[in-house]
Parts: sequence; C-alpha cells; structure tokens
Amino acid sequence: MSRPALTRFAPSPTGRLHAGNLRTALLNWLLARQTGGSFALRLDDTDAERSSPAFAAAIRTDLAWLGLAWEREERQSERAACHKGARARLAAGGWLYPCYETPAELAQRRRQRHAAGLAPIYDRAAWKLDRASRAALEAEGRRPHWRFRLPDEAIAFEDLVRGRVEIAAGHLSDPVLVREDGRATYTLASVADDIDMGITHVVRGEDHVANTAVQIALIRALGGRVPAYAHHPLLLAADGSPLSKRLGQAGIAALRGAGIAPLALASWLVALGTSRPPALLYSLAEAGFAFADISRSPPRFDPAALARFHTRWLHGAPFAAVADTLPGLDEAFWLLVRGNVERADEALAWWRICRQPLAPPPLPPEHAAFAVLAARLLPAEPWDRSSWRAWTGAVGQATGRGGKALFMPLRQALTGRASGPEMAALLPWIGRCRARARLEAAARALP
Ligand code: GLU
Repeated sequence: MSRPALTRFAPSPTGRLHAGNLRTALLNWLLARQTGGSFALRLDDTDAERSSPAFAAAIRTDLAWLGLAWEREERQSERAACHKGARARLAAGGWLYPCYETPAELAQRRRQRHAAGLAPIYDRAAWKLDRASRAALEAEGRRPHWRFRLPDEAIAFEDLVRGRVEIAAGHLSDPVLVREDGRATYTLASVADDIDMGITHVVRGEDHVANTAVQIALIRALGGRVPAYAHHPLLLAADGSPLSKRLGQAGIAALRGAGIAPLALASWLVALGTSRPPALLYSLAEAGFAFADISRSPPRFDPAALARFHTRWLHGAPFAAVADTLPGLDEAFWLLVRGNVERADEALAWWRICRQPLAPPPLPPEHAAFAVLAARLLPAEPWDRSSWRAWTGAVGQATGRGGKALFMPLRQALTGRASGPEMAALLPWIGRCRARARLEAAARALP
C-alpha cells in the first residue's frame, strides 16, 4: 500500500460549492481514506473582501452532508505567521525582489508584449533595477510588492492524472508573493501552508496546472518536500460552459433541495470523468478510485442522467443509507416503499398516508355501496401480506367485481391516491381500524 496521504480541500469561501468542487473534495477524502492518511479542510480566505463566514459555514455544511469528515481545519487568514516565516526564508535566500509597477503600468506592458508577439509575462524590469533606481521610485512614494525569481529552466512534474507535465520557463511570470501592504498572496500562502501542514498529495482542478510549476519552484526554494499532484479536468455545465459562475442545478444546495441523496451523489461523483459507469454505493467505505481511471476530457454535468441514476440508487437503497433523512420511519416500511419513490422523503409521505388521519376524496357514487360492503368484509387482524388477497377475493365474490373495478376504488379510498406501492404491502400498515373508517368515509362523503 502507498504511504499515508495527507490531503486537503482548499476552497476559497467566496461562494457556494457545486458538484465539481465536491468531487475534488471527495477525491481528496478518498485518497486519505484509502491510504490510511488524513484529510484537512483549509479555507483559503486571504481575500478578505470576498470571503465570508457565511460561505465558510455553507462549505462545511455541504461537506458534512456528503459524509466527508475532516480531521483538521485551517483558515489561511489565521496563518499569517507561517506565511511571514516563509517570506523571511525566501528573502534570506535572495529569491525575492521588489517591484514598483502599478496595475495600469503592468497592463500597458502586457499589451505592448502582446503586440510584439511576445508571451504576456512579466518582463523582469524590476529585477534589473539598481539600488539608486529603487530609492528614486520609493522617493516618489511608491511602495514595493515582491516577486519570486523563478529559475530559468523548465519545470517538470509527474501528474497522477495527466502524466508528465513540463512547463517551459518562458511561459511563466515571476509570481507576486507579497502585496504592497505586506500580505501574502495565494501562491505564497498556499505553498507555505502545504509545507507546514505536511500535505503529501495535492488533488485539484486542472485550472491550477500552471500554478503547480510555480509552486514547485517555490517549494524547492523553501527546502520543502514537493508533494504529488493530481489535476483532474473540471466539470462543465451541460452546455460545455464553466460551472464556476452560475451554479444552477449543479449547486449543492439545489441538489439537496431536489432530494438527491448524498450517497447517490457520491456514487455519481466518484465515477464522473472516468470510463466506468457509476456503481451503486451504499456506504462511502465501498468507494474506491484510481487516478489512472480519470480521463483527460472534461465531464459535463447532466442533471437528467443524475436524476435517473438517483432513482436507480434509491430503489435499491438499504435503510441504513437513507435513515438519517427519514426520522421515525420503520426499516420494514422503507423496504416496502423504496421502489415507488423518486426521493427518499416521499417514504415519509407514504408513512403518513398509512398511519395518520387521512381524508381521501369521495368515491364516485357508483362505488358507495361497494365501499360500505368492502368495509364490512375486512378480515380480523392480525394482518400480513396475504390479507389483501383474502379480503379482495371475498369482496370480489360478494360484488361480482374484478380487476380495476375492484382494486382501484379500494386503493383510492384507502390511500387517497390512484397509484403507489403494492396494496398487499401497505394494507397491514394501515390496519383494520383506519381501513374501515376510510372506506366508510369515502362512501359517506357523497353528495
Ligand atoms: N483556493 C484555491 C482554489 O479554490 C485552492 C487551490 C488549491 O487546491 O491549491 O482554487
């Protein structure tokens, strides 16, 4: 077995999670579980303006809902000391240089480089400044931000999903690590935290591939151990657009509201973007995955396919897989109705239909006498699955009815609905007393 993986899910609490984010979290969680390691939640909340405690709380709720527990939680906003220490080590090693360009000046230079057919990366103008020029800029009132001097060679790494990745030095800008006000940027904070937390595997979306090259250079400069990386293709919306901006039906809150069971979603997410069809998982402990199975093309979020899968999952779900969401429900009752529900909580509706007072709509006049007679013919309890057959046999004989004319008015009077789980199974849960009262009420309710 591979060494225990210390993984982290590192969302910025600047919005709600969607299915793609939760898939990243799930892969990190599974890797930690499969290797006997540990999984951390790190809130990348250094962007104070856009981060909010409400989003952080929603992220925790969504992870817990899916069943992903984390052994450790960190907030980047509280780790300034760690980031400062890393900055000091880099400065001592001569890796940082002060830069004085304003955002407008940088944009102007990017445009010029673009027009000249050059890659729009930072031209290292500030690297070439001598002491006097720096002093002159500072005398103008400019305060420096600090960039990391990237090595001049290509950076390569072995990605667990993508295989060997090599990024040429000329394609990367020296990253800004420290802002003018002294705060660490994401790049510095993330690397400093990953090293400090002992992260062994960084599993995230492929939008971070270029960052990885920069981060590896930074880790080496800091003398840290470079973790393994796995970058999976990002989940796209059904129309192929990115999910990040509009969560739509892929938002976790929306999926939860639509009644999608968390384990069904987890089953779906584990197989997403692989060539395997999703397996019906009824416990997260059954889930397994391998990075090698993740294909290079981005999966799309198909709500209709998820809904179909969910129904299949639900129809085979053991009680333990849904019990949390069905307070007070009996296991035997769940097994009875699961084949007739589209969402787990419909079982509660059937439970109420069987056990609580019900006012079924009146039966059409031609069924009144029939209902009264049927009530009189109800057998004595105890009832089991054979009671329905015995009873309807007797009612059929007494009234000469058969088929739909016999069964439909009974179903309607007893449940108030024209369809649902097998009546043979429901009848014992309704019981004689309620059954009789309902049949009589259905007959009496006539004009
Ligand atoms: N906060 C970053 C994001 O949400 C984390 C990326 C990473 O996993 O390092 O994209």
